[in-house]
Order: sequence, then structure tokens, then C-alpha cells
Amino acid sequence: MFLVCSQRCGGTLFRALFAEVELDSTGAYQDHRIAQPGFVCLNCGSPAIDLGEVPAAMEADAEEDARPVVLAEVLCPVCETMVQLDADLECPNCGSPLEVA
Ligand SMILES: [Zn+2]
Ligand SMILES: [Zn+2]
Repeated sequence: MFLVCSQRCGGTLFRALFAEVELDSTGAYQDHRIAQPGFVCLNCGSPAIDLGEVPAAMEADAEEDARPVVLAEVLCPVCETMVQLDADLECPNCGSPLEVA
């Protein structure tokens, strides 16, 4: 299970709506049953989504998108720092422009 706010408000606390607790006449806990799945964001009150239950196909897509780009490693010619190249081809140490070998 992985809950997120449907409004993406950043809230991390959610309240489960589905658990209906049943008590007997003495108040002793008897059982709970699933009435209807549902969570609300405690931060903004919006319905929350369980990303853990998205269809497998959607999950596969998301994983594909999230897959990290394979990084090339180059040695900075100026400061000799080993740099993993990403989008910006600059040495994080000295700011020199780098080229993929
Ligand atoms: Zn929210
Ligand atoms: Zn450098």
C-alpha cells in the first residue's frame, strides 16, 4: 500500500474510512469489516489514492519512466574528479565543461 493525496498537497497522514468496528453491548471489540475502501488526506481533506493498487500495467509504465538514465563516468580534466554525467555536462567540483568520451 502506498497512499498519496489526490491533490498532491504533500500531506503524509491519512485516515482510513473503511474500517467499521463492531462492538457488542459491553463495548468489547468483536470484529471489523471492510465496508468500502477509502482514505482521506488529513492535511487537506481530499480523497487519497493508494498507488499500491494501481493496475500492473500502469505500474510497469511508471517503473519505466522512473528508471534512471545510465550515467557515463568521466574524469574531469581540470580537477581530476570522477564525475557521473547527467543532463548538465559540467564538473560539480570545479564547473568545467565535460565531454563524454
Ligand atoms: Zn492532501
Ligand atoms: Zn573538475
